[in-house]
Amino acid sequence: MTAAKSLARPRIHEDAERWLDREGGKLCAHGVPLEGIASAVGTPFYAYSAPALRARHAALTAAVGPLGVAVCFAVKACSNIHVLAELARLGCGMDIVSGGEMRRALAAGCPAGRIIFSGVGKTRAEIRAALEVGAHQINVESPAELEMVAEVARELGVQAPVALRVNPDVDAHTHAKITTGRKDSKFGIPSDQIPALYADAPPELRMVGLAVHIGSQILDLEPFRQAWSVLADLVRRLRAAGLRVDRLDLGGGLGIGADGGAGPDLAGYAAIIAQTVGGLDLALNVEPGRWLCARAGVMVTEVLYCKPGEDADVVVVDAAMNDLMRPALYDARHPIRTLHPPRLGTGSRPGRLVGPICESSDDFGVYDDLGQIIRGDLLAFGDAGAYGAAMSSTYNSRDLIPEVLIEEGQFRIIRHRAGIRDLLKLEQGGPWQRAG
Ligand SMILES: *Cc1c(COP(=O)(O)O)cnc(C)c1O
Repeated sequence: MTAAKSLARPRIHEDAERWLDREGGKLCAHGVPLEGIASAVGTPFYAYSAPALRARHAALTAAVGPLGVAVCFAVKACSNIHVLAELARLGCGMDIVSGGEMRRALAAGCPAGRIIFSGVGKTRAEIRAALEVGAHQINVESPAELEMVAEVARELGVQAPVALRVNPDVDAHTHAKITTGRKDSKFGIPSDQIPALYADAPPELRMVGLAVHIGSQILDLEPFRQAWSVLADLVRRLRAAGLRVDRLDLGGGLGIGADGGAGPDLAGYAAIIAQTVGGLDLALNVEPGRWLCARAGVMVTEVLYCKPGEDADVVVVDAAMNDLMRPALYDARHPIRTLHPPRLGTGSRPGRLVGPICESSDDFGVYDDLGQIIRGDLLAFGDAGAYGAAMSSTYNSRDLIPEVLIEEGQFRIIRHRAGIRDLLKLEQGGPWQRAG
């Protein structure tokens, strides 16, 4: 993989987070009123700012690039091919966790030589496909998987570039469901097993280094320091045993500030990389998903009904947990803005925003800063560019909602709405058959 160091130093946009502006009271993105997009594609929908996405990539590259750290986007955070293409064009690599994501990354123009295959449960077919296209690296998470990769490489007559994913036993101090680096988690290989596995790898495997990923939406940078220190110690041990270590994959997980606020400092993040693994003469990469795309996206929804509630009014919107799962899954809160100028000071009460789905977890939380809300109002959920559309489903036979990409003064649809007709097409029954 080309280290980001060799790329031209990109310009940093200071307003990466402020691409949503009021113009004449109406919420606009790069001069495009979100209300106009709503009329064109219907609600709910996701909208991404291409300039914001580029600015996030530029800011991260400016921070870690000088250390020779390459940036690989974690495709699972926002896997729309047009978003991937935007990043691939900037020279960004891709971290994938399935064969499907690999096809997306390749189709988006990311060369195989910049693709890293992560994940705890790769199938034989997926491993085979990755080796056939010449993926940069396979991050292996267990001795059993190591055997499988060796077996497939032998069949294909190739040598597989492998990094071992270390479980550093570090608590990332984030939501339990997105903590992945503790010893009781399903991810990675305990540090004490690494040296033997690395040393005894069969000849079909080219052991290139180590990888780690301790969780997501990490706001406290210290767990990164702990995890990367574990990697650095292992590199020294492996080298002391005469083994060759060329690469470290430092993982993703860098968080964004809660409620639209400032998150961890990029300079601090880069400094910890320099302090822990900087002097080891290694090819380094990071795998951010959320940090690159969360702030570059919004989800827009329409208010269907309001009714009085106990402590807060109940505001039923047309988006639900199938469209944006994060609040139901991780208790996440998204900063919300009205598309109209807020009607403040009119005796407005806090609103509990809920979706139409018949589950009490279909609840986006209570907001008291939206002003009076009435039926037909449009709301923008901020920080929705990561793990939003990518996690959406058709639960309750609801549509897969559209995604649009915004540039200066214009927008285009990048995923069309998929509705009940499309779903029923998949359910045309096949002939009765006898099994085996
Ligand atoms: C999910 C994941 C990432 C990205 O995590 P973010 O919190 O979105 O940065 C990176 N690497 C691996 C292995 C992952 O599973």
